[in-house]
Amino acid sequence: MIVTGCLGAKEGVVARVHPSVLAITGPHDTPGVMQAVHEHLPRPHDPYTDLLPPQGIKLTPKHYAYLKISEGCNHRCTFCIIPSMRGDLVSRPIGEVVQEAENLVNAGVRELLVVSQDTSAYGVDVKYRTGFVNGKPVKTRMLDLCRALGGLGAWVRLHYVYPYPHVDDVIPLMAGGAILPYLDVPFQHASPRILKLMKRPASAEKVLERVRKWRSICPDITVRSTFITGFPGETEAEFEELLAFLQQARLDRVGCFAYSPVEGAAANDLPDPVPEEVKEERKRRFMLVQQEISRSKLEAKVGRTLKVLVDEPGVGRSSADAPDIDGVVRFEGGKAGEFVNVIIDRADEHDLFGRIE
Ligand code: SF4
Repeated sequence: MIVTGCLGAKEGVVARVHPSVLAITGPHDTPGVMQAVHEHLPRPHDPYTDLLPPQGIKLTPKHYAYLKISEGCNHRCTFCIIPSMRGDLVSRPIGEVVQEAENLVNAGVRELLVVSQDTSAYGVDVKYRTGFVNGKPVKTRMLDLCRALGGLGAWVRLHYVYPYPHVDDVIPLMAGGAILPYLDVPFQHASPRILKLMKRPASAEKVLERVRKWRSICPDITVRSTFITGFPGETEAEFEELLAFLQQARLDRVGCFAYSPVEGAAANDLPDPVPEEVKEERKRRFMLVQQEISRSKLEAKVGRTLKVLVDEPGVGRSSADAPDIDGVVRFEGGKAGEFVNVIIDRADEHDLFGRIE
């Protein structure tokens, strides 16, 4: 049992009468209640549908927090079962999302990680309805949400952005420093035929053109993406198309998965499955190419001074590093939750090493 409310603010009163309660918080302490719930009741992790890392938010340090803006998805990517499990997109009211973000920042959160199944679709389901943030009318739309969150004084990092054209509109906000210059946008593949089979948008040339444009507006932008190797029917030539794309796009952070059929996914019915060892071998080749790109991109940061949010003494993250999925910056000292400037002395293919200025 978790006790919350006015009496909870009186230290010891509830605990003396009911020593078996699991946690006691004061009034309006949603983060405190949630922390206690996750501590005592961790939900089993579902690798196919969960947005959050396996450890959930139980281990999320106090200084960063996941901010969920919607649930469900209107797309029907053939390798994915999320829409059949979670339904179509349902956006949270913008006033509620910004209020939650404000509460988190007031409680000491320094970085907000915006998550959903499809962040760029925010508001589509409610036709971008006007909501209210601190009494002011604001549209339920990714751009407006980013503007509102950007005014809270914390780092704001966007995850799971579907490559819609209007994503381009948030890049100037990144260039202006309102939100972090970081875009997590899963491209999944580069071959037009495979993308079509996946029911994913865009051609590789258009993606390359857009990434170039994003970099010209915001040279410091970190683009993170994920890809699948060995999708049913993927030929060696199509896989090489993907490698060529990778070499040209020179994305900053890349994850790669060998295709694995999920029960209920439409892609399971596609012909010409790729043998397991070929999928894995392609994944290895893909990651070898990316490792070199990643190393040279990180080496280019040697000599620079980066603003870093300290996760624990000696370890922190720059704007280019999302928790759990990207690399880190290592140095001596620092206190969890503080920002420090780190002079970068050295890099490997994942992490940077330096000293506090
Ligand atoms: S956009 Fe993401 S959540 Fe939606 S169907 Fe595609 S992979 Fe699944």
